[in-house]
Amino acid sequence: MLQEPAIETLPWAEQKAQDEPLYRDQIRYLFDRSRFFREKLQAHGFRTPESVGGLDDIAALPLTEKDELRASRSESDPIGTHLAAPLEEVVRIFSTSGTTGIPSYIPLTAIDLENWVRTSARSYGASGLAPGQRLISTYNAGPFVAGAALDAFPRLGLCHIPVGTGNTERLLAAVRLLKPQVLACTPSYALHLAEIGEARGLDLPNSSIERILVAGEPGGGEPAMRAKLEAAWGARVTEAMGIGDISVSLWGECEEQHGMHFSGRGFVHFELIEPETGKPVPIEDGARGELVYTHLKHRGAPQLRFRSRDHVVIHTGPCACGRTSPRVRCIGRTDDMLIVRGVNVFPSAIREVVNHYAPTVTGVVSVRPSAKGVKQAPPLKVVVELAEGQSASEALQQRIEQDIRATLVVTTRVHLEPAGTLPRSEYKSKLLDFSEATAEMVDD
Ligand SMILES: [Zn+2]
Repeated sequence: MLQEPAIETLPWAEQKAQDEPLYRDQIRYLFDRSRFFREKLQAHGFRTPESVGGLDDIAALPLTEKDELRASRSESDPIGTHLAAPLEEVVRIFSTSGTTGIPSYIPLTAIDLENWVRTSARSYGASGLAPGQRLISTYNAGPFVAGAALDAFPRLGLCHIPVGTGNTERLLAAVRLLKPQVLACTPSYALHLAEIGEARGLDLPNSSIERILVAGEPGGGEPAMRAKLEAAWGARVTEAMGIGDISVSLWGECEEQHGMHFSGRGFVHFELIEPETGKPVPIEDGARGELVYTHLKHRGAPQLRFRSRDHVVIHTGPCACGRTSPRVRCIGRTDDMLIVRGVNVFPSAIREVVNHYAPTVTGVVSVRPSAKGVKQAPPLKVVVELAEGQSASEALQQRIEQDIRATLVVTTRVHLEPAGTLPRSEYKSKLLDFSEATAEMVDD
């Protein structure tokens, strides 16, 4: 369902011309209102908004890391010096969980919040939802940006049934009694629910659920994981993706199921870079890189060339749904990336290879680096869980190791463990476990 057909079907080649004046206004706004970006740009030799130029010149500007924003916080600037609107105009302040114990705050003005809801409605609407359907969601709104995505559901004409995280009984009861057609959750949780359903003998493939919208982590786009979820639920799986500092949902997959369309058109400009060097990567079919975002009309705390740490592959070919924006599939997060003898490896990519062995394996894996830090010496330990009733064999172990080596060019040592050994998640899976990392950092 197209939410805003004129925008969503505008030829992509025309997008930049539309974005150009917005970008130039946003740069002026940053110079006027954002101490963080004014000082950052001036430190890089851009003294005035005019010296920054237009979108064609954007790659000359410095990239922005989340850590820089964090470092700008203080008692007198609790949000950070990138706060650009007067607090009196801010209508919502979300926060992230933050690994350091201090949350990062994300302030939105009324217009910002409305724009977030619009991008979310475009992303979720792409999945083929129909007004009048009931959608059950398991995202914890609470302090988190997911709350704004939930605001998109009534706008799509859906009846929203929030059950939150960790309420499996409440969820199963609602599926049985209220018969929602749509389930929105993380891929990890959809898998966990499928396992519970199987263990209890529930007939999930014949439940009312016709569509599963997954978001919050990579996985929903991995073909083997998707096939497993679709079989377990008798439902179609599509995914969506966003990022807290930019917009809660920026990408949404359509019914063609060939990646997530960019839904932030007119609000956000995206680029691809090589993560190691920061060099721009042209947006063309098959291109891979890290997504970098720039706000075009944001007020609360606009970002300029913000590094997402999401690695994607781009699809630019025409799509039968009519949407003209490029599509992406997320390959993994920089934060999870390991480098094994010079080769970049994402734990989610290892899981994808292992998942080809379903139904012999459950699809739950744990990568256990032996050294602290990103660089690892081979073999990399991978714990793979066998499905109920399956027993470990050296032949299977070796086949999986060979497959991982052939696909990802990394040497692993696979440990086959009985079903139920690894923890399940009602939110996001922890694919990397450093508890066995005793060696010091590995040098090249
Ligand atoms: Zn499409």
